[in-house]
Amino acid sequence: MRALAVFPKARQVRIIDRPDPEPVTGSQVLLRILDVGICGTDREIGAFHYGAPPAGSDHLILGHEALGEVVETGPDATVVHKGDLVVPTVRRPCPHRHCAPCRAHRQDFCVTGDFTERGIKEAHGFLQEYVVEEDEYLVPAHRKLAEVAVLTEPLSIAAKAAEQGTAIQQRLPWVHPRGRGLVLGAGPVGLLGAMSMVVRHLDTFVYSLEPATGVRARIARDLGATYVSGAEVPLGEFARRIGSMDVIYEAVGIASVGFDALGALGPNGLLVFTGVPAPGKPHPVDTGTLMRDLVLKNQVVFGTVNASRSAYETALSELEQGMFLFPEGVRSLITQRHPLEEAPALIAARGGIKQVVHLADAGRS
Ligand code: BGC
Repeated sequence: MRALAVFPKARQVRIIDRPDPEPVTGSQVLLRILDVGICGTDREIGAFHYGAPPAGSDHLILGHEALGEVVETGPDATVVHKGDLVVPTVRRPCPHRHCAPCRAHRQDFCVTGDFTERGIKEAHGFLQEYVVEEDEYLVPAHRKLAEVAVLTEPLSIAAKAAEQGTAIQQRLPWVHPRGRGLVLGAGPVGLLGAMSMVVRHLDTFVYSLEPATGVRARIARDLGATYVSGAEVPLGEFARRIGSMDVIYEAVGIASVGFDALGALGPNGLLVFTGVPAPGKPHPVDTGTLMRDLVLKNQVVFGTVNASRSAYETALSELEQGMFLFPEGVRSLITQRHPLEEAPALIAARGGIKQVVHLADAGRS
């Protein structure tokens, strides 16, 4: 079977042939991979800046945003059945007894750093025709979501942020007026974050550099959000021109933008960072204003990475709500589906919103 692999030492990204999987045993599940989304992390791995092959391997098979179909289950698999559509989670726990989060199945909070991530860190990914996975890492998706379920993984990032934000805001035990949310960035993570805010009944704004006539702005509006172009409103003036926000979801990965957005955060507000900025020149921050605001306005800034099984389940139900409320907006997040042969080119260049490698059509069962 074929797979897309990165060879960091040889500095190559190419399609390889590898043996078909062995018959599954225990609680293993054999998946036929249908769709794999490509994201910025894949492009960084493809540029040899991030990620690592499994121990003893000279290559890493890419792909962590996947949708598969169950072909066969081992005798002890209970979570999914043959014919189910499933979304695999990305992170696998570290082996250390003292890592309480990993032992509690919350490897998204691993404290040792020795977790693995399929398609990213020391574990092969899903950009291959067939994959064997333990059933506990597979989340069933309704067949009616087949067309868009490949978006579940990037949406799970927003779902985890919302879970964490909700837990933090339990500190405010009163009935809340309708809130306002701002998403920084109109890439797939940002637009999915906006969709998640809209279905959670926040008045949602998407802020990005692209003009208000651009395609990303149109998709933001199709998803029920208001688009604000950085070409018209400088971030420093956002609060004065549009108003202050209860939640800000950063999805640009640029530290200066993330911190500049604090000026738009209202009292008791939350600012969530999801981006991982590339190393670069230091950016000055007015730490006095920052600290004064955090204290005097009871604000919270937190980072979030990866997601738990429950966030994937939430993401799938938000996707279902999104497909009910604004199906065209959700569909248009997927720019194009490509055959595996085109995957190396997709890794090498940016373009569109979400590019998807399509490996097989869903079967009937
Ligand atoms: C993935 C996460 C992963 C993170 C860090 C992101 O692109 O969506 O699942 O934890 O990269 O490797």
